[in-house]
Amino acid sequence: MLESIFRELILDHYRRPKNKGALDDPTVTVSMRNPLCGDEIELMLGIENDRVAEVRFRGQGCSISQASASMMTEALAGRSLDDALALERRFLDLMHGDEEAQRDRALGDLQALQGVAKLPVRIKCALLGWNALDEAIRAHRASDRGLMGERLEFDDMTADVPEAAPPEGFDPEAHKEELPG
Ligand code: ZN
Repeated sequence: MLESIFRELILDHYRRPKNKGALDDPTVTVSMRNPLCGDEIELMLGIENDRVAEVRFRGQGCSISQASASMMTEALAGRSLDDALALERRFLDLMHGDEEAQRDRALGDLQALQGVAKLPVRIKCALLGWNALDEAIRAHRASDRGLMGERLEFDDMTADVPEAAPPEGFDPEAHKEELPG
């Protein structure tokens, strides 16, 4: 039962993503790809006083990558950058099958992605938006006065995602509409 509720939530975010679009005046834009699956995300953050004041994303790819980004933007709004990074760590715990994270209501709709922990080839998909977020915050903090409209582009993910070899006969095209089982 729970799994079908999760499946519906993922599909709902995929078909009707939250915060999809562009910001007029983003503090930082990060575009990133997951070459394993062909997923793409462009994440725009408006950062004010070390808070996520506004967030939007554009992208294309499988349901897991796009739903995860949609859920992430919903969970991020108004959070401090420290809180945003704490949420990222919590989501990483969830992707590693952590049982406490599975019960943590702070994750909200992101809970629906817990089944991805059982499908290692999809973990990169689920982490794409978060990896972009991490790079955005890291770059913002590394610059003396914070970023002002900078754009960062990554052809591949930079997070240390546990490598899982695609199963025999894995077809990235067929896999695009897949959901966690
Ligand atoms: Zn994907």
